[in-house]
Amino acid sequence: MWLTATWGRTSALTLNELVSYEPATGAQLWRGNNGDVDAAVYAARGAWARWAAAPLSSRLERVRGFASRAKSDLEKFADLISRETGKPLWESRTEVESVINKVDVSVKAYADRTSQRRFDGKPGTRNAVRHKPHGVLAVLGPYNFPAHLPNGHIIPALIAGNAVVFKPSEKTPAVGQFLFDLYRNAGIPESVINIVHGGAETGKALSMHEGIDGLLFTGSASTGVALNRQFANRPDKILALEMGGNNPIIVWDTPELYSAAVLVAQSAFLSAGQRCTAARRLIIKNSLYDVFIPELKRLVDRLVIGEPHGEPPPFMGPVIDNDVADGLTESFLALMSHGGHPIRHMTRPIEGRPFLSPGIIDVTDMKERPDIELFGPLLQVIRVSDFDAAIDEANNTRYGLSASLIGGTAEQYNRFWSNSRAGVVNWNQPTNGASSAAPFGGVGLSGNHRPSAYYAADYCAFPVVSSEADTPKAMIGIGLRDEVVASPKTLHSPDSR
Ligand code: NAD
Repeated sequence: MWLTATWGRTSALTLNELVSYEPATGAQLWRGNNGDVDAAVYAARGAWARWAAAPLSSRLERVRGFASRAKSDLEKFADLISRETGKPLWESRTEVESVINKVDVSVKAYADRTSQRRFDGKPGTRNAVRHKPHGVLAVLGPYNFPAHLPNGHIIPALIAGNAVVFKPSEKTPAVGQFLFDLYRNAGIPESVINIVHGGAETGKALSMHEGIDGLLFTGSASTGVALNRQFANRPDKILALEMGGNNPIIVWDTPELYSAAVLVAQSAFLSAGQRCTAARRLIIKNSLYDVFIPELKRLVDRLVIGEPHGEPPPFMGPVIDNDVADGLTESFLALMSHGGHPIRHMTRPIEGRPFLSPGIIDVTDMKERPDIELFGPLLQVIRVSDFDAAIDEANNTRYGLSASLIGGTAEQYNRFWSNSRAGVVNWNQPTNGASSAAPFGGVGLSGNHRPSAYYAADYCAFPVVSSEADTPKAMIGIGLRDEVVASPKTLHSPDSR
């Protein structure tokens, strides 16, 4: 037995148990057991070949069935996401819509990226490129989009003919279970889709299991780097890493100060800053600082922070738990103690619950700024004097997920686009809210060059090239001696004895 404390309450848990609580209220939401990794992988191994051999149309029928079930359950599903993550109900609805739309996007992407292709070969032969599934793919999910992001790996993996073992985040097991039940109720066969609950230890056991053919991961860079190391001597297994960012947003010359403030606030504080693409660093032209920062502050002061089902609907809810909230407020204080000047303090408006008010801090004078992802509503501001310095500052990170320029000219955007090291580069748009119909991934510590979303099809199957002819007709044209045909006379001559 061990004890876990949540908001001053303690609840007894057995070693094998997992519990999740609603961040907004502290109420217990879900209780279950950690999964059996061996059993799940074994089941998936036994199931994948049959699933892969089934006609594509039958696999598509099942995943389309899943989409229609998710549509019917949209409100129930969104309510659960809001309860378990704390995100506003309106936002959870958009997450469920993304889950539903993922099916059509993935069907199109499968056809576009990995369908059969024929091309000319030698006379009498045909060449073809076809794709095969890997076999058993493990999927590790994060807590911030507990349905949309694992689903973004699972649906393309299933369409391609893989079996899946899914481990949801230990912070969002209820949403993981709901998603799994939707797959099963839509007729995706038992053992083709499997779920194992548990935390990092379960994730480790799954990722190290000999029986998987690959791992599709969405989560933090620290976990992703550890997994990359672990897979270093396993080139036989596919590893797709979707990790975090320390994303810049540059504000340059623009008459649209209010809209610029809106784009910055959306980038930094939507989902309480718990988006991989959230803007962490606002890079601003020195001469704009005194007009823009008050505009931004005025706007942020008006953002409603509240319970997911609250009225009026909140802009943002709490972060996922008190540990994360504590870590963020401590980070804010650490930035201050190392030379940061607070513009807007990060506070805890509701005692004992993980709600945070958005924090904004000017870190221009800090000697060394930490290049880490602070995963919450915390925006660091850096003043620069010219546009080259702004681009340098934007790239002053080991990460490379998203980057936006607000304002500026077309020529400046071209320079920004050409010089930015990021997988998402936007102009007069937020850093977040990328389309599922496009590839999504980052460079540097943000990913391992296996982008997801529309390109997820690429890592769910491998290409097989075939050269084919109906009969084995062949000849050697060059480098062949004439055949020496022995005459019957020579063979039977008495002299040859
Ligand atoms: P996390 O890395 O803590 O956990 C992700 C998953 O990995 C969880 O299921 C967890 O149990 C498991 N895990 C943890 N340690 C493990 C280990 N050593 N071995 C195997 N599995 C392990 O991430 P999180 O805190 O749940 O999610 C937030 C992070 O995810 C942020 O960094 C965010 O930027 C990132 N993220 C990235 C994307 C993207 O698409 N690039 C999208 C959303 C979130």
